[in-house]
Amino acid sequence: MRVAVVGVQGDVEEHVVVTELAMERLGIDGSVTAVRKPGVVSKSDAVIIPGGESTTISKLIWKDGIAEEIIELAESGNPVMGTCAGLIILSKHGDEQVEKTGTRLLRLLDVRVKRNAFGRQRESFETELEFRGVGRVNAVFIRAPVVENVGDGVEVLATFEEKVVAAQEKNVIGLSFHPELSGDTRVHEYFLSLI
Ligand code: GLN
Repeated sequence: MRVAVVGVQGDVEEHVVVTELAMERLGIDGSVTAVRKPGVVSKSDAVIIPGGESTTISKLIWKDGIAEEIIELAESGNPVMGTCAGLIILSKHGDEQVEKTGTRLLRLLDVRVKRNAFGRQRESFETELEFRGVGRVNAVFIRAPVVENVGDGVEVLATFEEKVVAAQEKNVIGLSFHPELSGDTRVHEYFLSLI
């Protein structure tokens, strides 16, 4: 099994390490590669878009043709997961901030996201929440977006204070928080189980 982690910017290495650990736990033989060039995602079974700065990540993946490869992979049914900035990039619709910055979205997850949704007072925090199919998980939020509207066919995987913070549409998952920073592999295991 080959998993690609988009590696142009953001918390790439953490995702690589946690995905490797999750594979080990599941007894899966495979490799995880941080991707900076085109040609890798198209040969992978699954792809993760990490957190970071959505405008920057978006610019770089569209510039290099990695964006088209992610779309193709998702459309052929392979799992794609975006965390935090990655959730924004996967979404179909953004808010004014996304529009103002000209952040181009992949439009693979039928949701509307609100960027930096928790405001300045709560730029980052950690909490426990119930993740559907996984159980209680520790969730680290850093200048996190939330999902404001979900389209038909989108399942809510987790909420926090009545806001949707994890959603799935078939093989595409978007999370507001950072599962790679909580010292837990279960969300990644859930993702790998979709392959
Ligand atoms: N606030 C960032 C953005 O909008 C996302 C933060 C993150 O990925 N930790 O791009």
